[in-house]
Amino acid sequence: MAGLVAAARARELGAQVVVLEKGDRVGGSMLLSSGVVWRHCTLEAFRAECPGGDPELQARILEELDSGLDWLESLGAKVTERETGNERTVGRRFDPSLLTDALVGAGGEVRLQQPFEEADVLATGGFGVRLAREWGLLLRASPWSEGDGLAYGLARGADLTAGMDEFYGRNLPVAVPEELFVSAAQVYGAHALVLDDEGREFFAGEPSWSETDLVQATARLPAATAWYLVDGRALRRQVRARTVAEIVEVARAAGGDVRPAEELPFELPLSSKLVEPPLLAIRVRPAVTHTTGGLRIDEDARVLRPDRSAIPGLHAAGADAGGIFTGGYGSGLAAALVFGRRAAESAVGR
Ligand SMILES: Cc1cc2nc3c(=O)[nH]c(=O)nc-3n(C[C@H](O)[C@H](O)[C@H](O)COP(=O)(O)OP(=O)(O)OC[C@H]3O[C@@H](n4cnc5c(N)ncnc54)[C@H](O)[C@@H]3O)c2cc1C
Repeated sequence: MAGLVAAARARELGAQVVVLEKGDRVGGSMLLSSGVVWRHCTLEAFRAECPGGDPELQARILEELDSGLDWLESLGAKVTERETGNERTVGRRFDPSLLTDALVGAGGEVRLQQPFEEADVLATGGFGVRLAREWGLLLRASPWSEGDGLAYGLARGADLTAGMDEFYGRNLPVAVPEELFVSAAQVYGAHALVLDDEGREFFAGEPSWSETDLVQATARLPAATAWYLVDGRALRRQVRARTVAEIVEVARAAGGDVRPAEELPFELPLSSKLVEPPLLAIRVRPAVTHTTGGLRIDEDARVLRPDRSAIPGLHAAGADAGGIFTGGYGSGLAAALVFGRRAAESAVGR
């Protein structure tokens, strides 16, 4: 997202641009995404949800997202919904495939299977692949974001942000193919009794609406796996457009471990969440979508050194740029759009 946005904007400003893409297709994780490009309604809400993030970068997203969305539409990207369906956020849903086509059309030349060696704008999607491998987690993203942009920035003297051990992801039943990344996500932790492998509650309080905090807590368990226990009442609950029962069914169909809770190898704790039969247990494993920490940038997406001076000619955007959503969750597509555009403008001297 960030690389194609930067290319399209730089070309619009008269620059000659080449996008170097490591993968064998364009679009990165953007192509796999739900395509909802959104922001929090107010800066206060953004700050409350991502308290460790840089307030100036957050303010830039708040100020520039709406015009960025109009710009995407002006390039021919097709909006499928003008609401996010979430009262906490505003934004638009794009068809990811048509969004990719529109950006490629505007961005010009993309060379596939060509990892970059030199770059003005780093946009390699963070280091989620490496984090998933090192922590023994699943991957819910395109398979090429190993942290190459991060390594390049560090070699040029860049500073890192806080939150290098944070990520945005979902709990999945098993490793699933890309086309199930959205539908197989088990997003009903708020309605479930959540236990570790030995039957202990490990997550204090209610998960946030995005459940990013619950996913990260699961990832930090020694076995990095948890059980979601639901009863008949929870199975009827609605989460976005589906019932919990329907989401559990996707887990079962994908080969997940879904069993009567009585068959768990530990005694069930007494809980107000386990009242009405049937009681079901679903095993979940965290899957990384993208990392939250990364290279430190300023409001023009210039990569900064530890003394906060800018490294000449080096920009980063998308998940390569960290420190925006630290401590919480926000729209990775929105950050990629806003800072991809700013990176291009700064790189061509606007
Ligand atoms: C299933 C799913 C659903 C999602 N839904 C949403 C949503 O609705 N809303 C939202 O805001 N976010 C969503 N996201 C997250 C969103 O897709 C990411 O935040 C966004 O794509 C990040 O943009 P990026 O440019 O940093 O990375 P990407 O879009 O992944 O692009 C990075 C690109 O860099 C390439 N690359 C990696 N290394 C190199 C290298 N060395 N040289 C050259 N190229 C390299 C990669 O192959 C990739 O094409 C979703 C993600 C997934 C997987």
